[in-house]
Amino acid sequence: MKYILVTGGVLSGIGKGIIASSVGLILKSRGLRVSAIKIDPYINIDAGTFSPYEHGEVFVLDDGGEVDLDLGNYERFLDIRLTKDNNLTTGKIYQSVILKERRGDYLSKTVQVVPHITDAIQEWVMGQAKVAVDDNGFEPQVCVIELGGTVGDIESMPFIEAFRQFQFKVKRENFCNIHVSLIPQPSTTGEQKTKPTQNSVRELRGLGLCPDLIVCRCSTPLDTAVKEKISMFCHVEPKQVICIQDVSSVYKVPLLMEDQGLVDFFCSRLNLPIATKHNKMLRKWKEMTDRTDRFLESTSIALVGKYTKCLDSYASVIKALEHSALAINYKLEVKFIDSVYLEQSTERDDPVKYHQAWQRLCSANGVLVPGGFGVRGTEGKIHAINWARKHKKPFLGVCLGMQLAACEFARNVLGWEDANSTEFDPNTKYPVVIEMPEHNPGQMGGTMRLGRRRTIFKSTSSVLRKLYGDVEYVDERHRHRFEVNPELKHHLEEKGFHFVGQDQEGKRMEITEIKDHPYFVGVQYHPEFTSRPFKPSPPYFGLLLAAAGKLQNYLIKGCRLSPR
Ligand code: GLN
Repeated sequence: MKYILVTGGVLSGIGKGIIASSVGLILKSRGLRVSAIKIDPYINIDAGTFSPYEHGEVFVLDDGGEVDLDLGNYERFLDIRLTKDNNLTTGKIYQSVILKERRGDYLSKTVQVVPHITDAIQEWVMGQAKVAVDDNGFEPQVCVIELGGTVGDIESMPFIEAFRQFQFKVKRENFCNIHVSLIPQPSTTGEQKTKPTQNSVRELRGLGLCPDLIVCRCSTPLDTAVKEKISMFCHVEPKQVICIQDVSSVYKVPLLMEDQGLVDFFCSRLNLPIATKHNKMLRKWKEMTDRTDRFLESTSIALVGKYTKCLDSYASVIKALEHSALAINYKLEVKFIDSVYLEQSTERDDPVKYHQAWQRLCSANGVLVPGGFGVRGTEGKIHAINWARKHKKPFLGVCLGMQLAACEFARNVLGWEDANSTEFDPNTKYPVVIEMPEHNPGQMGGTMRLGRRRTIFKSTSSVLRKLYGDVEYVDERHRHRFEVNPELKHHLEEKGFHFVGQDQEGKRMEITEIKDHPYFVGVQYHPEFTSRPFKPSPPYFGLLLAAAGKLQNYLIKGCRLSPR
C-alpha cells in the first residue's frame, strides 16, 4: 500500500480537498486502485451535528456516515463509495482508545497521546486504507490521506506525530507528503509572496515531516523566479514545487497536475506499478472542461434555501445541478434565494428585498427546494413551491423540499389551511409530515434515518422511473427524522399528489410526482450525494432537462439526447 499524506499550510479553505482528490484521479487514470481518508482534527465524532454554516454541507455515505464534505469530492472525482471510517476525527480516535482502556486492554499502563493515540491513528489508517471502495472488491493500491486544518494547529499535533512515526514504519518508498500552501499576491505590489510558505514548510519540517511536493495555490501562474525561491528556501528541487493557479473549473486541477509531470514524479518516488501509459480517463476530463468553456446556451435554477450565505452548505446540490447542465451542454446559473425574503414579514420590513427575491424566483427556468432543518424560512419555501406548481415551472423538492411540497398541496388543493410538518407546528390540525417512530429523542448524533435505502417504484408511468432507466427500484441515501404521514397520504393521492416511490414495506413515502405539469418531483432521499460528473443524478437531470425545455423530447426518444 502506498500512502500519500496531504497537509496544509498558511490557510485552510484553499482547495486542499480538490488537490488531494485530483492526485487520486491522476493516479486512478493510470490504472491504479485509489482510496481516500479524510482526517478532521475536531473532537466531534462526526459532522452530523454541525450547522451547515459551520463546515458546509454534511455529506452522507451509503452506510449512513455523516461526514465532511470533502468525502463528497473523493467520491465524485474517483467514482468510488466510501464508508464512515474513511472520515477520521479526534473524537473517534479518543472514543476507541477510551473504550479499550475501559475494557482493560492497557491494564497497568498509563494511557497517553504518544504512543496510544498515535498508535491508534496509524492502525486506523492502515486498516481503512485496505477496504475496497468499488464493486470489484479489490484492495486499493494507493490511499490519499488528507489532514484537515493547517500544520501547527494544536488539534492536529497528534496526527502529525502519528505520521512522523508512520513514515518509518511503512518505509520511504511507501509514503510521501504533499504540502499545500498559499502564495498571496497583495495588490499593493502585485508580487507573489513566498514567506508564508517558507514559514509553514519550516514548521512542518520542525515536526518531522519533509514535503515531497509543495503545491502552491496562487491566483496567477508562478513566476520561475518565485518557484526557484521556494525551492531554495524550502529545501526542495524546483520540480517539487507545483503551481495550481485559480482556474475556471475544478475539473481543470487534475489536468494542471498531469501537465506538471506529477504522475512521473509519483511513479519514481513511490515506485508505482503504473498500468497504462495512455490516459483515456483524463482525456475525457479534458474534453469536458474544454466543452464547458464553449457552451452557448444557458438555463437558470432558483435554489430556494436558507443557508444561502454559505454556498458550501449546498455543495453536493450545486454539483448535481452542474453535472446535469454539463450533460445537456448548457451553462448553468444558480440563483440563490433566501426563502425568508419570499415571506410576508420581509414584504413588510424590507419590500425591496422581498420584490428582488420574487423577481429572481420568477425569472428562473426551474425551482429547487433542497433539504433543511428548522422552521425559519419554511413558509417562504412553501410560497415558492406553490408558485412553481401553479405556474408550471419545473420543480424538484429534496427531503425537506418534498415534505413542504406535500404541505403546500394539502393547504392549497385539499384546503387544509394550517397543514404542516410537526417539526414546525407540533399542534397542527393536519400533520401532513410527522416524526418517524424510530427516532431516538434522547440523543441527537447519528439518530436520523440515514444512509442507503431502497425505494420501489409503484407506477410504470412515473417520469422519475423513466429517468432512472426504467428500473423497478433505486437505492439512494437518506438523512431525515420526519416523513409524510402515511395515514393522510391517500387524501393527497386522491387529488393527484402521487407517491410513485415507496420503501420496501410501503410505509415510507419516497417519491412524489404530480401530473399535468412539465416536471414536479419530490424525493425524500438526497440524490445529490451520488451524482457524478459523467453520470448526473436522474432527479436533478430531469429538472435541468425540463428547465431547458428538453424533457418531453428526451422521454419520447426513449431517454436519449438528440445529437447536436
Ligand atoms: N428536517 C427534515 C427531517 O428531519 C428534513 C431533513 C432534510 O432535509 N435533510 O425530516
